[in-house]
Amino acid sequence: MQTVPDEWRDTPSERSDDKGALPWEGQTLFQRNGTGPPQGVSEDKAHPGKGHGKGVEAERESLMMELTRLVQKTVKESSWWERRGIDCAILAAAFLSLPVAFFLLSSSQVVPFALGMLVMGIAHGVITIKGTHLASHGSLSESQAWGEFWAVFFIEVCGSFTARSGVQAHIKMHHAHTNIIGLGDSSIWKVPSLPRSIYLFIAPLAVPIITPLAALGQLRAHPLSQAVRTVLMVSLGVYSQYWLLVHLSGFQSPAITLLCMLVCRAMFSLPYIHVNIFQHIGLPMFSSTTRPKRIYQMTHGVLNLPRNPLLDWTFGHSLINCHVEHHLFPFLSDNMCLKVKPIVSKYLKDKELPYQEDSYLSRLRLFFHRYQEFMVYAPSITELVGVQ
Ligand SMILES: [Zn+2]
Repeated sequence: MQTVPDEWRDTPSERSDDKGALPWEGQTLFQRNGTGPPQGVSEDKAHPGKGHGKGVEAERESLMMELTRLVQKTVKESSWWERRGIDCAILAAAFLSLPVAFFLLSSSQVVPFALGMLVMGIAHGVITIKGTHLASHGSLSESQAWGEFWAVFFIEVCGSFTARSGVQAHIKMHHAHTNIIGLGDSSIWKVPSLPRSIYLFIAPLAVPIITPLAALGQLRAHPLSQAVRTVLMVSLGVYSQYWLLVHLSGFQSPAITLLCMLVCRAMFSLPYIHVNIFQHIGLPMFSSTTRPKRIYQMTHGVLNLPRNPLLDWTFGHSLINCHVEHHLFPFLSDNMCLKVKPIVSKYLKDKELPYQEDSYLSRLRLFFHRYQEFMVYAPSITELVGVQ
């Protein structure tokens, strides 16, 4: 068991809003914070020591502020192309590759057809993983209205999920409460009833089917207008791919068309599930009443995977090799996370803070051999970091 020094902690009163009013009520999808604290995290929460700034606590708190200043300086010195352009160009390239994919899928020969499946699968991965993730953070535009438009487009039309629930789960819970038991502890990814081989290698293939069904289950909590919009947007996304396969690629059998859609949509489901669990589960977990300050929470509870050309493009740096940077600065785009990575890693190492990295295969082996511990048994509250 790892312990957290008292001076790392926030007092419970400083976290009184953790389980407070629903963050959605009366609010838009995003609350703009510029280059300040991340979405879903108030200034007080991002810098809970502010106002108590004396002695050790002030020194500890200044770590996050000092690192933020270094990162902000780099952001300010970066061009629009670096801040948003490169990632927007990758997403545009994914959309532009779709006509090529539909054309290749019209071939009756095996090689062009298989290439068409591959192109469509990769494009779908880029759009629905990298695109929905950046859109959920509002990172695709500096305009709030456009940010909300892109969130609905990527999460609902392309990703077949509800924008409201997607942003709520990812921004308001996972990012705001990373590795806090009962809040952002990644337990939504656990399916303890499944054996490890089924969970790790078979069940993820059903993600394209489970996602819209899970969206339907979320709609009861939505206002009627948003629920109707979500149903229309998800239907539009699914039906437009089906229509294009029939009319552009010449598919004639509905079953074959649906199978082709499933294969393309499930192409990155395995690494999608893997990456989601590898980078948080098994790392230190915190109690909501004894949570450490933000810089310690993120450096202990988040792990980076190595660079991987395919996953860098389809998932984006913020989900692969810059996940630590992404959790510290969620408002940065994938390319900016990559740009500030040397600054963040050097700073954390200089301050003797953890900078956790592990390979994909090493994490897969770990989860395979310790599946019961990580994915079946809930961590006992007495074993949590921070409980002394
Ligand atoms: Zn994120």
